[in-house]
Amino acid sequence: MAEPRRNWKQVLSRFLLLDLIKGLLITFKYQAPKHCYTEQYPLVRPKVAERFRGAPRLNLDPETGESLCIACNLCAVACPEDLITVVEAVREYVDHEGKTKKKRVLVDYTYDTSRCMFCGHCQDACPTYAIELTQEFELAIYRRKDFVWSWEMLEKGIEQPIYTR
Ligand code: SF4
Ligand code: SF4
Repeated sequence: MAEPRRNWKQVLSRFLLLDLIKGLLITFKYQAPKHCYTEQYPLVRPKVAERFRGAPRLNLDPETGESLCIACNLCAVACPEDLITVVEAVREYVDHEGKTKKKRVLVDYTYDTSRCMFCGHCQDACPTYAIELTQEFELAIYRRKDFVWSWEMLEKGIEQPIYTR
């Protein structure tokens, strides 16, 4: 079938590349910062969902500053990846009535973040709200061994990188 004949306006528009210019103008219009919808990460950190589960933290008692962990091992048992190691010891102490008693204390705690699937079972199992999955999501590291967080790291958390242009 023969192509329909164009009128002089269509021919002129084609000759002057008006459609191309119109398309480019639309493209350039959306380059203005107020039209940018892309997240400006890492300069601006995105707000994660309220129920997001990220980096683990071992919480401290705000009054005494001591660990809330009572070394019960429930988090390690609940973990389907078997990545939490709780090392406990039994220590003797004298209670307020002067009686010698024994209690379980935490000696070491490690958490292998490389194998964690952030399911939250450890957090749910903890009777003292000691282990918590925070909203921190920047867990990238340079060395494989650094994936295993020590007790100290779990209490202090990782340092947030500060990005500048
Ligand atoms: S979040 Fe899940 S996989 Fe990660 S340590 Fe806790 S129980 Fe294990
Ligand atoms: S973190 Fe919680 S569940 Fe795990 S050993 Fe400590 S008190 Fe028990």
